[in-house]
Amino acid sequence: GCGICIKKCPFGAIHIENLPEEIEDKLVHRYGENGFALYGLPIPKRNEVIGIIGRNGAGKSTSMKILTGILKPNLGKKEASWDEVLSKFKGTELFNYIKDLRDGKIRAVYKPQYITQAAKLLKGTVGELLKKADERGVFREVVEQLNLTHLLNRDVRNLSGGEMQRLLIAAVIEKDVDVYAFDEPTAYLDVKERLSAARAIRNLIPRNRYVLVIEHDLAVLDYISDLVHVIYGVPGVYGIVSQPYSVRVGINHYIKGYLPSENMRIRDRPIRFETPEAREKFLPTEVYLTWDRMFKRIGDFELEVEPGDARRGEVIGILGPNGIGKTTFIRMLVGELKPDEGFVPTEGLKLSYKPQYVSPEMFKRFGTVKELLKRVREDFLDTSSWYYVEVVKRLGLNKLLEKEIKGLSGGELQKVAVAVALGLDADVYLFDEPSAFLDVEERLAVGNAIRHVVESKGVTAFVVDHDLVIMDLIATRVMIFQGTPGKRGHALPPMSLRRGMNEFLKELGVTFRRDAETGRPRVNKEGSRLDRYQKSIGEYYYTL
Ligand code: ADP
Ligand code: ADP
Ligand code: MG
Ligand code: MG
Repeated sequence: GCGICIKKCPFGAIHIENLPEEIEDKLVHRYGENGFALYGLPIPKRNEVIGIIGRNGAGKSTSMKILTGILKPNLGKKEASWDEVLSKFKGTELFNYIKDLRDGKIRAVYKPQYITQAAKLLKGTVGELLKKADERGVFREVVEQLNLTHLLNRDVRNLSGGEMQRLLIAAVIEKDVDVYAFDEPTAYLDVKERLSAARAIRNLIPRNRYVLVIEHDLAVLDYISDLVHVIYGVPGVYGIVSQPYSVRVGINHYIKGYLPSENMRIRDRPIRFETPEAREKFLPTEVYLTWDRMFKRIGDFELEVEPGDARRGEVIGILGPNGIGKTTFIRMLVGELKPDEGFVPTEGLKLSYKPQYVSPEMFKRFGTVKELLKRVREDFLDTSSWYYVEVVKRLGLNKLLEKEIKGLSGGELQKVAVAVALGLDADVYLFDEPSAFLDVEERLAVGNAIRHVVESKGVTAFVVDHDLVIMDLIATRVMIFQGTPGKRGHALPPMSLRRGMNEFLKELGVTFRRDAETGRPRVNKEGSRLDRYQKSIGEYYYTL
C-alpha cells in the first residue's frame, strides 16, 4: 500500500497507486532502471520564492538539484541529451528556464540539505569564508541578520549545527547568481533563528532572481514562499510535482490532505487546529505534578526554574533559544541531572524519554527495528491497533522492520526513537526535539500521536520543539525559557498557549494570525496592518 488509502480510495479521488498513464509523459528523471522516478518539476519564477513541500524520499532534493544544474535529467533513460530534455518541456512554463540551463546561462548556488558533509570541505574562519563568498557587497547585512558577528573569528571546524547552517545560508545569499536554492534551511535552528533566516532569504536576495526553498516547518515555509509545489507520491518509489499554488492555499490543501487541481488525496484525513477559544475553555485542570523553584549550575551555565504544575491530560510545550537550558530541565526531570536546589517532581514515576540526540547505542541490545519494537509492544504489528496505524505505519516504520538499528539514517533513527517513547507505558512522557530530521507529514503524525497518548492515558508530556505549527497542534500550555544562552536560563511556569506565546513572541518582535480556513498559525508580514495592530494591543499570537 501507499500509506494513504488501504484499498479503494473512499474519497473518490485518484488513488495514488492508480496513476493515470499520461503521467509517464511527465517523467523527468529516474535513478537507474528500477530506481526512484520524478514526474514534473517545480517552476522557478523571477521575483517569487518557490516553496517545495513533501515527505522525505519524495524527490524534493532531486528536483532542486535538477533546477540548479547539479543533476542532468535523464527522462528515465540511461542518458538524455539536452535537446531531448528541452523538447520535453516544449510549450510549458519551464521551457525558457530549461533552455537557459542547457545554454549555461543560469548560474545557481545550492545550500545542501546535509550540512555536516558540506562542512568538511570548508577551511578557515567564518569571517574569511564570508568575505570570500561576498560577490554582492552585503557582508555586513548578512552577518548581522544571521547573527554571525560574534563568530567571525571562529574556525569553521568548531561550529555547532545551527551555527554552520547560518554560515551556509549567509554564504549562499552573498553570491551574485540567478538561482538561490535552499534545501531545508531551518534544521538545527531555534525559532528566532528560523525567522531571521527566513527574513534574510526574503529580504537580502536581489529582486528578479529565482529563489527555491525546501522546508518542513510550515510556519517558516509559509512566511518565506510566494508559491508552493507539493511533491506527493510513494516515498522512495516515485514523486509527482503538483501545480503551483499560492502559498496560503497550497499549505491549506496540504493540511486538509487533498489537492483539488490534481484531484489527489494525499492523506486520509485533515489535520485540525483547535480554535483559541476552545483551547482556553478546555484546559485540563486536575493537577498531576507540581514543582518548587529548581536551580542548577553546570560549568558556567545556570538555570532557574520557577515553581509550576502540570495537569492530567496535558502536553506542556517548551520553547526557547538554543543553549538556554531546555535539555538541562528535561534531564533533571528524568533524573540524569540532580538539581542543586529544589526537588524533582517526577521521582518514582514511570518515565518515557526521547532524548534530543539519538544514537544507535541507545538501543544496543536490539538488532533490527522489528526486534526493538517487539520489545516495546508485543502487538506492534497488529494492523488493527492504534499504535500500528498511527505510529508504525504513519512514520513508515513498517518499511524499516528488517533493518539493523546500527545502519539507520539520522531521520530513520529519530522516527524509531520517537516510536519507542510513544509505545512505552509511562506516567510522564518527555520528548526533546522530536521533529528534528522528520518531514512535515511525520511531524504532524508525531504531534497527533503525542496528543492521543496523553489524553487517552490521562498522563502528562513535556515536549521541547522549535516548530511552532507542531507546538500549536499539541501544546495545552507552554513553558517559556528566557535569559542569555550559554550563561543563564530562566524558565517561566507553564502558561496558556495564548499567554505563553505572547511572552515568547514579544521578545522576537513577531506576530501571528490564524488562518481562517484551517486555524493554523501564520506569521504576519512585518509592518503589515495586522502586525502593527496586534503589537499595539499586545496580542502577538491571537487576534480576538
Ligand atoms: P527528498 O529530498 O524529497 O527527501 P530525494 O530527492 O533526496 O528526496 O530522493 C528521492 C529518492 O531518490 C529517494 O528514495 C532516494 O533514495 C533516491 N535517490 C536520491 N539520490 C539518488 C541517487 N544518486 N541514486 C539513486 N537513488 C537516489
Ligand atoms: P538547550 O537545550 O536549551 O539548547 P542545554 O540545556 O542543552 O540548552 O544547555 C544549556 C547550557 O548549558 C549550554 O550553554 C550548554 O553548553 C551548557 N551545558 C549543558 N550541559 C553541560 C555540561 N555537561 N557541561 C558544561 N556545560 C553544559
Ligand atoms: Mg531532501
Ligand atoms: Mg536542547
